[in-house]
Amino acid sequence: MGKRYYCDYCKKSFADNPVSRKTHLNGVVHGQNKRSHYNALRDEEETLKDESSKRPCRSFLSAGDCKFGERCQYSHLTNEDKARLTEIVNKKKKLAEMKLQEGSREEDNSVLQSLNAWQSEKTAFQRESENGSIVRKASAIIFPDYRLASCFNTIVNPPPSLLPPTKEELRAAEYAEWG
Ligand SMILES: [Zn+2]
Ligand SMILES: [Zn+2]
Repeated sequence: MGKRYYCDYCKKSFADNPVSRKTHLNGVVHGQNKRSHYNALRDEEETLKDESSKRPCRSFLSAGDCKFGERCQYSHLTNEDKARLTEIVNKKKKLAEMKLQEGSREEDNSVLQSLNAWQSEKTAFQRESENGSIVRKASAIIFPDYRLASCFNTIVNPPPSLLPPTKEELRAAEYAEWG
């Protein structure tokens, strides 16, 4: 076995000679690996789209060499490269979908929590009712802001029966179950 060249970006080794080294270093997958090494946010899907819209570089794909390197306007992606990139893109999408589903599960949980809280409150009230204490907890009720109708504002000393009840009065009141 001759000299081997190990690429840290691609984590693979190959026979070390000027041609294969140049071919590898000019390759799109190598460029991709190198960029993603420095920029983890580099989007493979974008690369795949860009490269797929380009015509294949004849000189690179047939001779394994292209004088334009990464600046070449044609695609250096082999079918294998495209398949690998597609695989990566699909994996990324699946991960993103899983994350999305986890997110919706969290949302479901919060809905479930409020549902459970409501249900346990309901059960507690039912138990109270079964124990014979059928007095409803007025403190749990949200009262509206009762106000005297504006047409009564001109009355200097309105009778108490006309005055709106205060929240304190409403809370102090006892509510009995009918039936
Ligand atoms: Zn490489
Ligand atoms: Zn080229």
